[in-house]
Amino acid sequence: MRPFRYARAAHLDDAIAAGSESGTAFVAGGTNLFDLMKADVLRPDTLVDVSRLPLDTIDDTPDGGLRLGALARNADTAYDPRVQSRYPMLARAILAGASPQLRNMATNGGNLMQRTRCYYFYDTATPCNKRAPGSGCGAIGGVNRIHAILGASPSCIAVHPSDLCVALAALAATVRVTGPDGERTVPFAAFHRLPGDTPERDTTLEPGELITAIDLPPQGFAAHSTYLKVRDRASYAFALVSVAAALDIDGGTIREARLALGGVAHKPWRDSGAEAALAGKPATPATFAEAAGIVLRDARAHDHNAFKIGLARRAIVRALTEAAGGKHP
Ligand SMILES: Cc1cc2nc3c(=O)[nH]c(=O)nc-3n(C[C@H](O)[C@H](O)[C@H](O)COP(=O)(O)OP(=O)(O)OC[C@H]3O[C@@H](n4cnc5c(N)ncnc54)[C@H](O)[C@@H]3O)c2cc1C
Ligand code: SF4
Repeated sequence: MRPFRYARAAHLDDAIAAGSESGTAFVAGGTNLFDLMKADVLRPDTLVDVSRLPLDTIDDTPDGGLRLGALARNADTAYDPRVQSRYPMLARAILAGASPQLRNMATNGGNLMQRTRCYYFYDTATPCNKRAPGSGCGAIGGVNRIHAILGASPSCIAVHPSDLCVALAALAATVRVTGPDGERTVPFAAFHRLPGDTPERDTTLEPGELITAIDLPPQGFAAHSTYLKVRDRASYAFALVSVAAALDIDGGTIREARLALGGVAHKPWRDSGAEAALAGKPATPATFAEAAGIVLRDARAHDHNAFKIGLARRAIVRALTEAAGGKHP
């Protein structure tokens, strides 16, 4: 690891001022950033430690929703009784990720900002447009079993690795951000980016901006929702495909649906077309299969990941079936 300076921010203003300097990086739990520094993928001159800022609470909001502090730990968020009872899909997504030790350290803001697990991104001996813009993409024509089937570009076919973010996409959360120009809110769908020809940018966050909180709307779909994660091992593995499925059902008919996928694209993949197609239909396997077809209508495989298309199709149907049955194992 290269030498770097370390500064602990005592106040939000200090963090924003320090984080606006070029060559600085915020550090919260450190579970992703330190790995990337050890692998020489990221080389910040200065780390601004934000972990002691008072942004670690989980609070009810006046509209009946919940505000998750950016520095609340993933474990504390998943086990919060209000998250468990009102947003069980979110709790389940968090607990499907990483390990208990990691979830005790990892923060909600850091989870949103974690980088892809593409092998070539971590291997500085190989080309990677995300790590070194303009150097090429090792995964295109290389080993690409874990890579994207939706929304990829000729520059990058990486996927976003988070579980938490897939549930936040389905819940239509809002990200609260503070930066040199003040505070702003970002709808979750607009927070992460598709790669296009600038895959080095994962999010729409501007330099120096800090995530302060994530707002959950009142509708948590507690009665009919689930998070299904399909992976190579039963635990401690990233998703090959994951599905956050949430339904509002009235007498067997779907009133409203939410559907988001992980492991398939550069960002959590929420499909409003599929959601619209589910609304007003009976909650049956035929309806769910039709929605899966809509989500995957533009899916494109690479050399080693064609299996993901069929896997995603089956996972969507299974997740929607579980959600309709009100099953929360
Ligand atoms: C072995 C292993 C397995 C894992 N498995 C999974 C998994 O299955 N599913 C899953 O979802 N995740 C998984 N993770 C990832 C883990 O969830 C993330 O590493 C963690 O959430 C990052 O949070 P952190 O607080 O440690 O972030 P840090 O490592 O401190 O920071 C990560 C990035 O976020 C930035 N950052 C941190 N906080 C903020 C903020 N408030 N505002 C703006 N930028 C900020 C940092 O500058 C840095 O760029 C795994 C990690 C490991 C090491
Ligand atoms: S898929 Fe993206 S992250 Fe992976 S090597 Fe290509 S450019 Fe880099």
